[in-house]
Formats: sequence, C-alpha cells, structure tokens
Amino acid sequence: MDLGIKGRKAIVCAASKGLGRGCAEALAQEGVDLVICARGEEALNQTAEEIRQASGVSVTTIACDVTTEEGRRQILEACPEPDILVNNAGGPPPGDFKNFSLDDWRKAVEGNMLTPIALIRATVYGMMDRGFGRIVNITSGSVKAPIASLELSNGARTGLTGAVAIVARKAARNNVTINALLPGPFDTDRLRTNVGIAAEKEGISADEMAARRAANNPTGRFGTRQEFGAACAFLCSAHAGYITGQNLLLDGGAYPGSM
Ligand code: NAD
Repeated sequence: MDLGIKGRKAIVCAASKGLGRGCAEALAQEGVDLVICARGEEALNQTAEEIRQASGVSVTTIACDVTTEEGRRQILEACPEPDILVNNAGGPPPGDFKNFSLDDWRKAVEGNMLTPIALIRATVYGMMDRGFGRIVNITSGSVKAPIASLELSNGARTGLTGAVAIVARKAARNNVTINALLPGPFDTDRLRTNVGIAAEKEGISADEMAARRAANNPTGRFGTRQEFGAACAFLCSAHAGYITGQNLLLDGGAYPGSM
C-alpha cells in the first residue's frame, strides 16, 4: 500500500534507537524527509547514515535533549513547517511513590507531558493552515493499565493523553490528526535495561528474566521496532485522516480487557 506521504517532512524525536528509530525508518521507507534528534551524537549520526543508505531520503540530525527549550528550538529551526511530528523521549525511572520527590515528578511531567505539548503547540496550527498534519505521541501501555514500578510514567503520560484529547478533535477539521501509540514490551535498550534491573532484584540472569517476560506475552515474544514503526507510518499516512484522538495499544494482546 502506498501511504501517500512521499516528499512530506517529519520531525521524529528521540530517534537514534528503539521505537523512535523504528518510526523514522518506516517513514523514510515511504519517502518522507526527516529531522531526527537524540542526545548522543555518535549513535544519531550512525542511524541517520543507515536510514539515508536504505531509503535515499534526506535526514537532518540534531543532537540535543528534546526536553529542553533549547533542544526544541534547534529542532524547529531545522524543520519549521513539518507535516508529521512524532513525539518521543526517554521514559522516567522506575521506583516507588514513597520515594519520589516533587522534583522527580516535575522532571517526568517536563519530559513526557510538557515537551510533547510544547512541540504540538509549535506545529499544529501551521499544519492546520496548510491542510495536512499527522502527530503521533509515543506514550505507553501504562496509560491504559498502570504499571506498578512506573508511577512517574503512569502519571505524566496519562496527563498528556488528556491534555491533547480536545485539540486532536479541533485539528481534524483541517486534516490534522493527533493520536498516541501505547507500546507494551518492545525489544529495545530501554526494555533490556529494565529487565536487567528486575533480574538483579530476583537474583536471576537478564536472559532468564527476558525469556520469562516474553513467554508471558500472548505472542510469546517482545515486539520489534519495525512493527512499531509500521503502525506509526500508517497513522501518519494520507489514509488515516479519519483517525484522531485515539490511543492505540501495541502490546501483543497483553492488556486483558475486551476493549
Ligand atoms: P530506547 O532507550 O531504546 O531509545 C531511546 C531513544 O531516545 C534513544 O535514541 C535516545 O538517544 C533518545 N532519547 C532519550 N531521551 C532523550 C531526550 N531527552 N532527548 C532526545 N533524545 C532522547 O527507548 P525505547 O524503548 O525506544 O522507548 C521510547 C519511549 O517509549 C520511552 O519513553 C519509553 O519509556 C517508552 N516505552 C517503551 C517501551 C518498550 O518496551 N520499549 C514500553 C513502554 C513505553
């Protein structure tokens, strides 16, 4: 299927690895020119080069922290009129409600709620004026079912989900959509780090813990960044203008509800 977005311009945040990279790769396969950011310059440049080689699209790199105003300024300077925006950043650390300080909460809200809101504010009205726009927020399955050790994430991402629900409907009149992708367990560095921490607590190897977690999923495995990217590219496609304000769970069926 031709997704109808060849020649469009996308900002993909936090895209040197993992889910952000999966989204950047899938959009590039559709002929979308990219501005991608990440904190580490080396991995970012390597990813950019691999995407250029594989797809032939233009890839501009901005080595920055997207959760800072300066980082976002640089990204928007490189792509002031994006057609597509994929919001993503590292997730807050695990822990226990009792031990989180207000500063921990501020950081989580800054990174996983206010950062995407700032980028949406800066881009959505231009998209509406131009009559096309696709915004995808990478949140988490924790929006649907809170995860015990990830209370910072549960809070900040659910806040973002509520915050954009109305603008997602208002923008739709001008063929601009805002949706969220809610990952369950995807095989990325972040997942491997969390698995390692859990394995250490239980006194087993990281491989053993990973195998147990994968076996617990209805599919018997973790998701791949390519599967995640494909879903993102469809939501960004010309065919997806009637999907807005939605929160799509990609978790291999792990969420136990019927709906
Ligand atoms: P990852 O660690 O594999 O990759 C993270 C990417 O984001 C890297 O490219 C890193 O350089 C970049 N990055 C991180 N913080 C940044 C910042 N402040 N500014 C710019 N770039 C930044 O992580 P991932 O697994 O792809 O996760 C992406 C998001 O999805 C995270 O918020 C994570 O919490 C969430 N998530 C992941 C899973 C999963 O199973 N992988 C599940 C639920 C939610």
